[in-house]
Amino acid sequence: MLLRARFLLAAPGQIIENGAVLLAGARVARSGAKARVATAARARTAPVVDLGDAVLMPGLVNAHVHLDLSAAAGRFQPTTDFSAWLAGVVAFTRATPHAALAAAAREAARGMLADGTTGAGDIVSSRLMNDAAVALSGLRVVLFREVLGFDPARAEETMEEALALSSPYDHAAFPAEPSATRPAPPWASRTGGARPSAPPLATCGLSPHAPYSTSERLYRLAAIAAAERGWPLSTHVAETRAEEEFLARGSGPLADLLRSVGVSLNGWKPPAVSPVEHLSRIGALDAGPLLAHLNYPRERDLDTIAASRCAVVYCPRSHAFFGHEPHPVRRLLDMGVPVCIGTDSLASNESLSLWDEARFLRKTRSDLAPDEILRMMTAAPARALGFLESAGGQPGGPGKTPARRAPGVGARNGEAAGLLRPGAPADLIARSVPAGLPAREVSDFLTSQQHKNLLTLVGGRVQYRAAGITATPSASPAAGH
Ligand SMILES: [Zn+2]
Repeated sequence: MLLRARFLLAAPGQIIENGAVLLAGARVARSGAKARVATAARARTAPVVDLGDAVLMPGLVNAHVHLDLSAAAGRFQPTTDFSAWLAGVVAFTRATPHAALAAAAREAARGMLADGTTGAGDIVSSRLMNDAAVALSGLRVVLFREVLGFDPARAEETMEEALALSSPYDHAAFPAEPSATRPAPPWASRTGGARPSAPPLATCGLSPHAPYSTSERLYRLAAIAAAERGWPLSTHVAETRAEEEFLARGSGPLADLLRSVGVSLNGWKPPAVSPVEHLSRIGALDAGPLLAHLNYPRERDLDTIAASRCAVVYCPRSHAFFGHEPHPVRRLLDMGVPVCIGTDSLASNESLSLWDEARFLRKTRSDLAPDEILRMMTAAPARALGFLESAGGQPGGPGKTPARRAPGVGARNGEAAGLLRPGAPADLIARSVPAGLPAREVSDFLTSQQHKNLLTLVGGRVQYRAAGITATPSASPAAGH
């Protein structure tokens, strides 16, 4: 397939006029100026999609979402009482049938694709079992299996359960074509036999929940299991003032909440340090997990994170939902820490649209430039979740890639770099732009205005197409002139 559009945003800050992307199956074969891409032999026979006044760009990646809370849309009001909100969420999920949660997760994932999100880091609660719905949605997704608990005696059992639930998506352990002697994987019964498409779009990760809910032992076991399998890790940290209090003294609203939902605090001794310092001391930062929220870091915590391989996930509208103090996103970026944007769940956000996050940031954070916002929604999360590596764009697992490498910016001879370079996964979208929009205003327009999604491709497959977007059989011999 050959895609053509007035603009190609190959990487934030790199806009090519009259751009094109040529696909070879699930990957990008060539991208750059239309005339240049058209010289490839494959371009002469490929079906052509002419997108007109549009920006072709890498698909957005939502670095932190809880799709299994999608059924909670509209049920929770903004609040500064995080513990009460969390108690409400726990009660809601316990009272809602799993089938309803899975149906809402599937619908939300399809909505993300229609909105131009091609990838996500989804936190999957073992209890809720929405993983098959998400894995089959068409999103490229890391299913971060959540583990939590303070009882050291139960840590092994908790981890074994999480690994067993993850096994259908562990493609290294589970061949693409299961042999007749293997038992049917759980999604086969849950989805009527439909199988995740190959090459695998859903992969595994682990998410030890948070320092206020997860023992040192469980953090360690998760790190070992992830390292053995090359899986990424994610955790929540420094989300609330209450978390600081719990770590400092073992008291406060989170301690009350844990007891009320039946979590035993036997054996828990408050470490009397900040949540980030605690994770650092127990070695939980060594593998470079994604750190969700980081709303309340201490000064020293910022240095600790800058010296680590961790990326931080900032969830702007969820942050505002809880009325937190201003987020240290600017300082983190200035220190060279990769920052990604996440939406968190529909229990603390009005939508799972990263475009809504971008517009919110443009209104509330004048210290963030349009290209920085686009980078936090594309290159930074794609790299942090290992999407570039797992799709074969580069060797090595997510943990082996230097986290500080800058996205490839700078056109040479009209050739694209960045996320749409040759060999990269063909995860891309097209957004409509007004006729006559100057190239220098594209990033500003994309992050501040409403615009229509025309096309979403994940691994080269069409996951969303606006009315009127069609492919013509092949380029004419004159194509590109
Ligand atoms: Zn979360």
